[in-house]
Amino acid sequence: MPLNPEDPTRITKILGEERFISASQILDYEKCPFYFLMARVYKEKPEGEEKDWGANIGKEVHNWHEGFFNVSKSFEDLEREYGSQGYGEIFGKYCKNLIIAELRYMHEKNRKIMIPIFVEYEFEIDHLVGRIDRLELRPDGNLTVVEVKPAVQWKYPKNQRWQLTFYAMQINRILSKTGIPGIPSGAKVTHGRIVGYKDASYDEFKINGRTIKTINQRIQTIRNAEVFPLKYGQPLCKYCEYEDQHCLETNLKGDF
Ligand code: SF4
Repeated sequence: MPLNPEDPTRITKILGEERFISASQILDYEKCPFYFLMARVYKEKPEGEEKDWGANIGKEVHNWHEGFFNVSKSFEDLEREYGSQGYGEIFGKYCKNLIIAELRYMHEKNRKIMIPIFVEYEFEIDHLVGRIDRLELRPDGNLTVVEVKPAVQWKYPKNQRWQLTFYAMQINRILSKTGIPGIPSGAKVTHGRIVGYKDASYDEFKINGRTIKTINQRIQTIRNAEVFPLKYGQPLCKYCEYEDQHCLETNLKGDF
């Protein structure tokens, strides 16, 4: 799909039904279609240092989370194990908060049983892909999809709910088509819950039909897109790693 020299935001072939789409791709498209084109279609990396610190921390927090809730390791064992790998400070700062948030949640909601059915469950259905952190069984037999995040109140809070709604939609499709081993038949995802490991808070919400409709529309928009307009000048530009590097408003680079 070469860039059109007359209009670099236009591609010569539509992406189509075969394109794999994830929640983060939809969120990227929402932020800026041109950003989506660069990052997701051309996979063009911005120049400069890799920003992998946050990703590494997130991965380790997930490991801790899984160890505590799924492998039933004690808090002390985990602290010793990961502390010896040089992550002691991170655990003291973030992972304890995560465990405290989870235990507080169970206490407040009087949920004596919280079943971590999956940790890091990957799905693919009709070229829609994703990986969820956990599904919880609710007292009424339905499910909550859980996502662990650095914080609840980040710069695009609406997007986190979109991400979990996307997961809920796809898990429910899989449940209705083939079922998932370990999940009672008839159960469906009715709620999402974002767990913020930095501030030990959580945000639980009901899956909303209007959001589902909007997400389905965005999926079709992306699949049919041929033009990826810039959103330069919008507040999100200051967060964009393509600013001053690839954005048309500055300097388009790359070997296309
Ligand atoms: S700098 Fe702004 S306009 Fe350019 S790609 Fe990033 S978000 Fe889009």
